[in-house]
Amino acid sequence: MAFEQEEILQITSKIERWFTKSAREFPWRNDDFPWGRLVCEFMAQQTQIDRVAQRWPIMLQRFPEPSSMAKSDEQGVLELWQGLGYYRRAKNLKKTAEIIASEFGGEVPSDIESLLQLPGVGKYTAGAIASIAFEKHAPIVDANVHRVLCRLCNHAGDPTPSTWTWQISELLVTSCNSPQLFNEGLMELGATVCTSKSPSCDDCPLQSCCGASKENTQRDIPPPKKRATKKRVYHYSVVAEHEGELAFEQRNDSGLWAGMWQVPTIDSDVKLTEAQVRKKLNLKNKLISIGEFEHVLSHRIISFSVFACKIERDRRFSWVKQDSLHELPLASAQRKVLAVHCVT
Ligand code: SF4
Repeated sequence: MAFEQEEILQITSKIERWFTKSAREFPWRNDDFPWGRLVCEFMAQQTQIDRVAQRWPIMLQRFPEPSSMAKSDEQGVLELWQGLGYYRRAKNLKKTAEIIASEFGGEVPSDIESLLQLPGVGKYTAGAIASIAFEKHAPIVDANVHRVLCRLCNHAGDPTPSTWTWQISELLVTSCNSPQLFNEGLMELGATVCTSKSPSCDDCPLQSCCGASKENTQRDIPPPKKRATKKRVYHYSVVAEHEGELAFEQRNDSGLWAGMWQVPTIDSDVKLTEAQVRKKLNLKNKLISIGEFEHVLSHRIISFSVFACKIERDRRFSWVKQDSLHELPLASAQRKVLAVHCVT
């Protein structure tokens, strides 16, 4: 869809004005600075915004600038990331802080090319930081922006963000007054008004120029994306105790829950017996089954089987007193494992 320049100015100014008076309260909006915005964008990549709003102030209090995070150890960052999921983002944030401290004089870079060099920063995150923290005319496209732009143009072809969406986003942001207000406003509009299931067209600043609203096609645009079937896998966790301390191990540096801590656990594509779990973990004592639960992720369903046993102190594991467990970076699934143990 080609816009006349006048239409572009109308659309961008409507969004900027609407956002100025309708923006939700979030802590990073009271005190917007580049490092705070970067941390916010990392945290919000796969996590609900309300949860980010709870954790962001804690993260910024502990690491108020890139250099403080660069100097800390990775476990300190992972500890504050507990419960947010997708722990690779925490590891990337730590590496990004190190690069900013060593190569950019401790200041978050403002240009897209430099931002794209940082681990965990893709086209969307680079555009968000450049436009919102530095008022650069850089486009952003996420699922919310894609939905608003598709409906605005009555464009039904793309279930997910595409080259088309990036082109429209760029066309609009290039002509706006304030890239910060326009881009954040566009995302906010998608999150609060032009929502997936029930767009509130009567409350929308774009209604008079919206193609989907005119054609009454807004509920069909964008078309639904095909859902991938979730694979089922099996995790066998053993809460192994020795004189009031529990055994823990650290997960590998890559893959699911990379670098997080867990009680000794076997990941398997197939079901295992108690004897097989014991053998794989090289444990001698019989394992007592104490519970099961399902943990659902975006791409897989994990059936957890939880066992308990007493063992001799074993150097393969780190031993943690039960009243110090809160200090350990544990994924939420492992918190569930410990909860099963506590109630038995
Ligand atoms: S008028 Fe309706 S469909 Fe169009 S952008 Fe606004 S909320 Fe979305």
